[in-house]
Parts: sequence; C-alpha cells; structure tokens
Amino acid sequence: MKIWLDGALRDIESARVSVFDHGLTVGDGIFETVKAVDGKPFALTRHLDRLTRSARGLGLPDPDHDEVRRACAAVLEANPMPLGRLRITYTGGHGPLGSDRGEHGPTLVVALGETARRPDSTAVITVPWTRNERGALTGLKTTSYAENVVALARAHEHGASEALFANTVGQLCEGTGSNVFVVLDGEIHTPPLASGCLAGITRALAIEWTGAVETELPLDVLERADEIFLTSTLRDIQAVHRVDDREPPGAPGPVTAKAMRIFDERSGADQDP
Ligand code: PLP
Repeated sequence: MKIWLDGALRDIESARVSVFDHGLTVGDGIFETVKAVDGKPFALTRHLDRLTRSARGLGLPDPDHDEVRRACAAVLEANPMPLGRLRITYTGGHGPLGSDRGEHGPTLVVALGETARRPDSTAVITVPWTRNERGALTGLKTTSYAENVVALARAHEHGASEALFANTVGQLCEGTGSNVFVVLDGEIHTPPLASGCLAGITRALAIEWTGAVETELPLDVLERADEIFLTSTLRDIQAVHRVDDREPPGAPGPVTAKAMRIFDERSGADQDP
C-alpha cells in the first residue's frame, strides 16, 4: 500500500509523521473522505472546496488543491481497486506540546482503503448527546471525531450502523458520518445547515436532484416520518428500516426508492467539477 505524505508517494511502512503532530496531540486537523470508483474520485472539486472551508475555519493555510489532486491521482494509480475510499488528512503539523500552533507547516496525508457498496437499508439509533449548532467547529470537517466514535460504538451495540444526534435546542441534526432526510406527506425534508450539521456533499446532491427542502425538524419527527434515509459519501442514499425500536413502514419506501434511483443514475455521470 502506498500513501501520499508531504509531497511524495511513500510505502505505508516507511511513511512517518511526528508524534508531536497536532493532528495527533490536540485534534488540530481536517479531513475528507472521497469515494473512488474504478480509480476515479467522485465529486473531488466539491471535497476540495469543503477542505478549504474547513482549513479556513481552523485558521490553517489553504491546502494546495493541485497538490491534493496530484496526491489523489498518484495514490489511486498505485493502489488499484474497484471501490475505494480516499482519505485526505490535513493537520496543523508538528510543534511544541500544548495547544499553540507550531511554526512548522501543515501535514498532508492521502491514503486509500478498499470499501464495499452499503446495503440498501440500515438500522439507526438516537443518542442522548447533542450537537452544538453554535460551536467554533460547527460545520467544519475536523479530525476531532471522538464524540462520533463513542456514538457509533453505542449504535453497534444496538445492532445499528449509525447514531443520530439532535442539536442543543432539540432539533434533528445529523448522524456521526451522515446527513438525515425524512419524508412527510410525500415531500422530502432535511435539517438546514443552521441545525449544526455538516454540509454533506451527498446531502447537497440529494437536495439538488430530488428537490428536498431544508426544514427545521424536531427530533421526534423520526417517530412519525413515513420514510427516513441517510446520505453520505460511502452510503450514497441509504434507507432506514429501524430507528431505536420503531420500524418506519417500507424501507426503502417509494419516495426513498425513487431518490436512490435518481442518485444512482446522476452520480454515474461525471460530477467533477
Ligand atoms: N455529517 C458528518 C458528521 C460526516 O462526517 C459526514 C461524512 O463523513 C457527513 C455528514 C456526510 O457528508 P458527505 O456526504 O460529504 O460524505
């Protein structure tokens, strides 16, 4: 396996990052997960734009898009696989212990893992912890994911593949690594970015392609929604067949099934840029 680290393709066994890299010590880093089908990244321009937004939010220098594109192409070429997940990680770089940023430039790593197409439907749980819709990191795709790791572990304990959060005012927000949509009277709704959710790339495409509307939704909408689905880079559109102990009728129901068909058709076309 070859990865890209700071300007060159390297064997994963010999690639080294400082133990004082602030991505490791204080979670001062950002990332993107990009789907790659037959060696071709999907929606890379959108991912690079979000990477830059996250960098600016954290006060990191703008990532060099040309370098990241070259890195992705080199890693994909060196590690052929039918369905891969590119992981772009960009951190504050190494520096003294503590939370101040060091004088060294950022660290860029691009790695690739093999992945599989997700099942058409899945179970989810809701968790009692809240997303902060007004935090300094809200909306940024940072490497500070420990809260998601904890919530996902709880989901797995309950036989579910995703955990959904409300925000601090009780509105439906998002999952640990996905956005959430509900169908009410035939219309598709998803929480607005002001709910504190990430601006998911799959979410944006699903809104564009299905006409879903952004609506503030209380968490208990999950108890009365006709259909529920998740979106993410690795799930595409995935129906929800269980929320906690409740099973929404038909998963995928007719509206979700149509959205899945539209997404499959449209995402097959070149989405980059
Ligand atoms: N929300 C969170 C917290 C995420 O981490 C992700 C993706 O990893 C998403 C939503 C979905 O975003 P995307 O569709 O860009 O993968």
